[in-house]
Amino acid sequence: MRNLILVLGDQLNRDASAFDGFDVKQDAVWMAEVDEESAHIWSSKQRIALFISAMRHFADSLQKTKIALHYSKLDDPKNTQTLEGELLRTIADCKPKRLIMTAPGDWRVLEKIKQLSWQTGIELEIREDRYFFSTVREFFEHAKGRKQLRLEYWYRELRKQHGVLMDGNSPTGGEWNFDSENRASFGREGPPPIPPPLRLKPDGITVQVIDLVNSRFASHPGSATASISGFGWPVDRDEALRVLDDFIQNRLPKFGLYQDAMWTNESWLFHSHIASALNLKLLSAQEVVAAAEESYRQGLAPIAAVEGFIRQILGWREYVRGIYWVNMPKYLELNALKANQPLPAFFWDGNTQMHCLSQTITQSLRTGYAHHIQRLMVTGLYSLLLGVNPKEIHAWYLSVYVDAVEWVELPNVIGMSQFADGGLMASKPYIATGKYIDRMSNYCKHCVFKPDQSTGPNACPFTTLYWDFLIRHESAMSKNPRMLMQVRNLGRMTDQAKNAIQDKASEIREG
Ligand SMILES: Cc1cc2nc3c(=O)[nH]c(=O)nc-3n(C[C@H](O)[C@H](O)[C@H](O)COP(=O)(O)OP(=O)(O)OC[C@H]3O[C@@H](n4cnc5c(N)ncnc54)[C@H](O)[C@@H]3O)c2cc1C
Ligand code: SF4
Repeated sequence: MRNLILVLGDQLNRDASAFDGFDVKQDAVWMAEVDEESAHIWSSKQRIALFISAMRHFADSLQKTKIALHYSKLDDPKNTQTLEGELLRTIADCKPKRLIMTAPGDWRVLEKIKQLSWQTGIELEIREDRYFFSTVREFFEHAKGRKQLRLEYWYRELRKQHGVLMDGNSPTGGEWNFDSENRASFGREGPPPIPPPLRLKPDGITVQVIDLVNSRFASHPGSATASISGFGWPVDRDEALRVLDDFIQNRLPKFGLYQDAMWTNESWLFHSHIASALNLKLLSAQEVVAAAEESYRQGLAPIAAVEGFIRQILGWREYVRGIYWVNMPKYLELNALKANQPLPAFFWDGNTQMHCLSQTITQSLRTGYAHHIQRLMVTGLYSLLLGVNPKEIHAWYLSVYVDAVEWVELPNVIGMSQFADGGLMASKPYIATGKYIDRMSNYCKHCVFKPDQSTGPNACPFTTLYWDFLIRHESAMSKNPRMLMQVRNLGRMTDQAKNAIQDKASEIREG
């Protein structure tokens, strides 16, 4: 055999660079389902089911085009259950001259495959991943010599370079950023009618995979069942395109306005739910951005919504990928705030009186989904304020969400949410009292705690821990110009009030 094309579980597209020049007569494809990938972190049932089902759908589509495929199934008794083991088995069988792959998303996997190529002496060719707008090399160039990396510079550079939402040299609509028109709450009356998102009925392959996952990974977190409510994620390209279209038609116009809002028993709101399809490469970043821009050009969605949505993909998604590759592997070890509390046990079952956390966690375990503000300002904020060890909370996020892959999850957790990188990614920690959650949701209306109280029997743990965080990190925070106002407010507090807060915070930590 001439070339063996390696396709990982998050590289499921036939247009990938790894397939360039593919010769059906001489080349073959390798794919492997292995326990290791579901167990190196305690992956949730939703996440495992999505990856395996999408891989099987992609494998099916390759076989229909008569491509030679070496595919290891999880339940094959010969499966060694590691990526290296399965690749070595295939190499021994077919003796390829060369291994070719699109650059893996994760540093850990790249290292493994490089090591294996070195060990076997088989040449490894790694090609650019063109399902992103930018290359990792371009981000390195952008980062070179800059003291601080900030999303805004990178985002504008990419918009100009790719002509996205540009009218000549000017940003469409006259502004780069429409945040001031976005990010409303639902107010007292609650959300307007929300067009329900397209959820997909699991087909035969997915039903089999869900059964396999439920028997093989029974002790893993969350649930997956063979119904639209138990698993409704797109598992192939056609389904992913339908989900994208449904979002563009029905929810994009209000995306920006309500992108930060939360509401009890409303999991989906006006979000797109396409992160897993993007990360598995069922969709490309370019086609998603083009579809959103086209909707604006046709007068179907306002500029604020479209710019807000494009900023997430062309901006944040490309930015966190750059942050990840510039900083791995040391990024995984960062703990700038020396946070060492264990992750509370209720993160694995949602069993807590704190209504915002109970809602966000139970929804996450049931669906594999929570939107950005639930991740950042509910679970992430609580962990940051409590002082949870960043590696523990990182493992939780990587485990629970269907869209969780390390290159995007890690910077969002270590950098944006936990400030464990000391400000490399975000200019200040995202901290707030329970009053922020009260403003952006109706969670507090259903809670035994009161968001405006920091001590006493009804004190909201977020509010107590917010002040406790400032007391514990006062010296570091006072050096950050963006934190000065918050530190100044702390300065107005009496020693007696500070002691009462710290006592209450210790009570919360002791559970
Ligand atoms: C602590 C934390 C952990 C996160 N972990 C992940 C993760 O494992 N995988 C993941 O894809 N996203 C992650 N995000 C980013 C974001 O929360 C999810 O992409 C989004 O909630 C997915 O839902 P959606 O598809 O409905 O997105 P929408 O709200 O509709 O946004 C559209 C798209 O923009 C992209 N996007 C939005 N925000 C970000 C961001 N901060 N970083 C990168 N891309 C972004 C996603 O591709 C998303 O699908 C995390 C955010 C936080 C704060
Ligand atoms: S009162 Fe505090 S704990 Fe309760 S829902 Fe509001 S923010 Fe969450």
